[in-house]
Amino acid sequence: MPDPSEIVHRTCPLCEAHCGIAIEVDRDSGTVLTVRGDEQDSFSRGYLCPKAYGLKGLHEDPERLRRPLRRRGTDFEEISWEEAFAEAADRLREIRERHAADAIATYLGNPNAHDLGAILYGATFQKALGTRWRFSATSVDQLPKMVASSQLFGAPGRFAVPDVDRTDYFLVLGANPVVSNGSLMTAPDMPGRLRALRERGGHLVVVDPRRSETAAIADRHLFIRPGTDAFFLFSLVQVLFAEDGISLGPLEERTDGVDELRALARDFTPEATAAATGIAPDAVREIARELAAAERAAVYGRIGTCTQRFGTLASWLVDVLNALTGNLDSEGGVCFPRGAATPADDTPRKTGTFPFGRWRSRVRGLPEFAGELPVACLAEEIDTPGADGERVRALVTVSGNPVLSTPNGARLARALGRLEFMVSIDLYLNETSRLADLVLPSTGHLEHSNYDLVFDGVSVRNKAHWSPQVFAPAPDSRHQWEILAELAGRVNGASADDIHDLMIGGIARATGLEPDTARERGPEQILDLMLRGGPYRLSLEKLEAEPHGIDLGPLEPGRLPRILATASGRVELAPALITADVPRLRAALAGASDPEGLVLIGRRNVRSNNSWMHNVRALHKGRDRCVLMIHPEDAARLDLVDGARANVTSRVGEVTVPVSVTARMMPGVVSLPHGHGQGGAGARQSEAARVPGVNSNLLSDEADLDALSGNAVLNGIPVRVVPAAPV
Ligand code: SF4
Repeated sequence: MPDPSEIVHRTCPLCEAHCGIAIEVDRDSGTVLTVRGDEQDSFSRGYLCPKAYGLKGLHEDPERLRRPLRRRGTDFEEISWEEAFAEAADRLREIRERHAADAIATYLGNPNAHDLGAILYGATFQKALGTRWRFSATSVDQLPKMVASSQLFGAPGRFAVPDVDRTDYFLVLGANPVVSNGSLMTAPDMPGRLRALRERGGHLVVVDPRRSETAAIADRHLFIRPGTDAFFLFSLVQVLFAEDGISLGPLEERTDGVDELRALARDFTPEATAAATGIAPDAVREIARELAAAERAAVYGRIGTCTQRFGTLASWLVDVLNALTGNLDSEGGVCFPRGAATPADDTPRKTGTFPFGRWRSRVRGLPEFAGELPVACLAEEIDTPGADGERVRALVTVSGNPVLSTPNGARLARALGRLEFMVSIDLYLNETSRLADLVLPSTGHLEHSNYDLVFDGVSVRNKAHWSPQVFAPAPDSRHQWEILAELAGRVNGASADDIHDLMIGGIARATGLEPDTARERGPEQILDLMLRGGPYRLSLEKLEAEPHGIDLGPLEPGRLPRILATASGRVELAPALITADVPRLRAALAGASDPEGLVLIGRRNVRSNNSWMHNVRALHKGRDRCVLMIHPEDAARLDLVDGARANVTSRVGEVTVPVSVTARMMPGVVSLPHGHGQGGAGARQSEAARVPGVNSNLLSDEADLDALSGNAVLNGIPVRVVPAAPV
């Protein structure tokens, strides 16, 4: 519980950076007075971004839901938790019995990764339903990176993270860490970390179709045509081989596939890829030589390299480059963090070829990966019945808004209307949950404790930080884990306690430790057991005594041999699943010509976090950020001026949006931020709806995927832009 000074220290749960914050509260009114960066925080040292102030707005937002809602015609009525749980469980059970478990689908949104209880109980809930039709935001985000890691290192969550504080050369593709503060690279105060890199004589090179905030502070920025990162990366590999720049370092004896890579890269000379990428051969050679010469270098690719047609190949080549230059698992290169709540013994429990495509989606045959199907096929799995009428008939969304976050949101919204039953566990009536039959709101972020379980695994420094609840939950409210445990129990005729006991029993067996029964059943008891069984032998009690977090030291080079989970026990630089996709890339290169027409990319704003914080006035106020960025040459050709409105059309949809004419865009490329487009009948987010902007996923195409992983293409969407008719 909070200390008497009324200042509570914890981490900000809003994005992957998980900065330490100090929240000053007024207990009498239950309000937040201030949110400051915690200067004593062992990791973030006082840094915070404007979104942190949104915690106050979220906590106090009168439109945040506090009671379960049941659809009544076009509106909703408040009901009791007992009614809500009984109805949800009865309907789900009935649909499962009448059809099959796969007639129920689940969708988990990004905020789940930021909530310990949701992480622990979400997976159990999905298992309890028994469905294989599981979807999440993963397949509009990092799925290609997970597929690449699973093949290179044997596990989808084994991400090589840039040792950004010790590197000398940082090559960044398709990422804007100055705004995001890192993704799959938890790194609060990226602006400061990048400044420090340059002050110690290091180099920052950014390759991006937009001169982003990160590109603006880089030593060098190169424009690249969207979707062509794999060409560029392969050219770097080709130059390294051609100029004898390969040096695998200590991993040489543990690495397979180098000769195969050499052969695969042969055709991708800088001259061969220049027309497609827009990057001159000399520039490619210079970067390859700099990478080879740098004592400590890290190549990092993120959302832009994942959400494109060759997302898995690009993600794979990022790690290939780190390996070929001796920077994989190396100080100042890319390393593998060690989470405090992971098993103490690094040795993987399972080794082998990580499974891929154990089942496929019914309509299009898209592959399962790590227990999930690509969300781009969710709508068709609902609106396209099979020969025997089989289709998805019920959906449970958990902290997600797929109508705004996944491709062809208009089709998905229509498909949701054809469900027999839909439950949304959500804080708001948003563009998706407004279509549900039942809406179950969980406690707000400040009303429950948290631990950054996922992001410890991608942190640029090993650390552990406990986040206590700031306010007691409102009367008769439920934490998200309580909702998930209750539903998981009821659909199988069990209780929430049964579910918890099952979970903690498994962890007790794995760790050989007894749970602390003085703690209540729930995520805290589970976490305590995981910490005690973890590599640093911590406990929740020890974390509670350290309100500013515990620094567990810099990333450790040399861990990889112990944690490799591949069948061979070696780094597989040329895994068959991935290299089988190279002919597709080669064919695209042969077909590449001077690009015609415009392509659309996304972008992120420091005051916005995907789609769900737009109702916080403190973040939403000010100028309209949902504008289409376009290069002056394109604007002149299309007769568009700054501030004019344009119609943007793709294969699947059309939006009308103001334009911002700027040389920060690569000619031929336009950019629209994601996460906008709030409003619509039934949604209750009046501040967000006041200046809604447009939903960029009305333009993204559910048929356009990274063919290997099934990840959605959100960057490089062909569009037509014309001046809008005057209003
Ligand atoms: S960068 Fe901003 S939103 Fe992200 S954790 Fe830090 S303060 Fe919160």
